[in-house]
Amino acid sequence: MVADDGVLAAQAQMGAGGMNVTYRSTRGRAPDVDFEGVLLSGLARDGGLYVPVKWPQFDGAAIRAMRGQSYERIACRVLEPFVGSGFDAAELGTLVESAYAGFASPERCPLAELDQGLFLLELHHGPTLAFKDFALSLVARMFNAVLASRGERVVILGATSGDTGSAAIDAFRGLPAVEVVILYPEGRVSEIQRRQMTTPEERNVHAVPVQGDFDVCQAIVKSLFNDLPFRDRHRLAAVNSINWARIVAQMAYYFAAVVRLDAFERKVSFVVPTGNFGDIYAGYAARQCGLPIEALHIATNRNDILCRVLATGSYCPDAVHATMSPSMDIQVSSNFERALFAACGEDGERVRGLMARLADGGFALDGAEVASLREDFQAGRCGEDETLSEIAGVWRERGVMLCPHSAVGVHVARRVAGDGPVVALATAHPAKFPEAVGAACGETPAIPDRLQTVLDRNERSVPCMAGLEDVRRFIEELKAQ
Ligand SMILES: *Cc1c(COP(=O)(O)O)cnc(C)c1O
Repeated sequence: MVADDGVLAAQAQMGAGGMNVTYRSTRGRAPDVDFEGVLLSGLARDGGLYVPVKWPQFDGAAIRAMRGQSYERIACRVLEPFVGSGFDAAELGTLVESAYAGFASPERCPLAELDQGLFLLELHHGPTLAFKDFALSLVARMFNAVLASRGERVVILGATSGDTGSAAIDAFRGLPAVEVVILYPEGRVSEIQRRQMTTPEERNVHAVPVQGDFDVCQAIVKSLFNDLPFRDRHRLAAVNSINWARIVAQMAYYFAAVVRLDAFERKVSFVVPTGNFGDIYAGYAARQCGLPIEALHIATNRNDILCRVLATGSYCPDAVHATMSPSMDIQVSSNFERALFAACGEDGERVRGLMARLADGGFALDGAEVASLREDFQAGRCGEDETLSEIAGVWRERGVMLCPHSAVGVHVARRVAGDGPVVALATAHPAKFPEAVGAACGETPAIPDRLQTVLDRNERSVPCMAGLEDVRRFIEELKAQ
């Protein structure tokens, strides 16, 4: 895997910032690791999330040099310093090409002007029609490459509110070195999302319904990862949005959008429909690396804990409300810990303390921490009625159908002040949410071919699990087979 020539070439192409990034835990008590380490383990052993020790820098010339390049070239440029010696430049190029080859659009993420100065970055042209394909189709291939070279096998364990699970199952199905177990809240994902998870025939992928909401699923995953003997015995790995490799894959479309807008001086603002904070954190990461981003706006549905923490400094999860944008129905937003780490001046012990308090119901940030968060992020929310009227309005005026998540983003984007371009991320295809979109537009979205297959096939279902112990047994029995 290690080819010094490739790394040197990558560093030379990058210009000033050439370096090999290492990663440390947000809770300060796990050893630093390299890219292969963050890829395979996901969560650090002290319960924290990995972040780069130092951000590689792309200067103006390096970013301008991306003009006119394909999405794949831009992605390679962005990824190179982060993967370091884990993959050489040629190997990375091959993985990136194959990851995006199955996307429906040659631009991968087309940018459409929706209104004067308001753009839609369409991230839903991948195999499961949601933005998570950008990360997972690449991360699956990275896993496969690393494990194949080591002759190892892992169990990928994840929780999903809908789209992560389907993207993970699609990305990993049929890969011999990987068994995939995805927990989802029974009855709280859309029929299409469920079918995308339960219809693949490959026997290495398992969609497991759990009684409860997404946070219950996520808590089970965290418990199993924190049970170190169990984690080691079953070689658990994560591809939830806490996995750093997913974040870095998502950084590429922020670069691509800025480059395509030619917005090197007029800084762009991004509005990101947010749940688990992975997508918007990728925008933060891009800005830390030198991408000229004016503002990053968190857009939430009525599950607005992230709006509240920015407004009040207090992070106190509520009950989760089911909305028509289920992938954002979250009260405990995992990747937010990475933003907290930055807001606390990278004090791992402080983050540890806050997370311990979160387990007891919530925490309050101090004034400096809130100020730092507000410098990095802004937030807006969009209720259910507003979501419907946004979908209806864009359909009526522009002939474009938005999925409910994307509509939340556009609603917030319309309220962004300033005169630079505003880019709202369109995170899923409207056809994945036919009820909501149909109700708003008066006609249901046309079903793309790849979705029709999912509707036609039989489901392979697993009995609903009551909690942690059921899931533990399920994983033990998989290994016994
Ligand atoms: C996952 C998802 C989101 C939320 O993204 P996060 O990275 O979890 O904040 C928004 N919209 C759609 C369609 C999604 O699938």
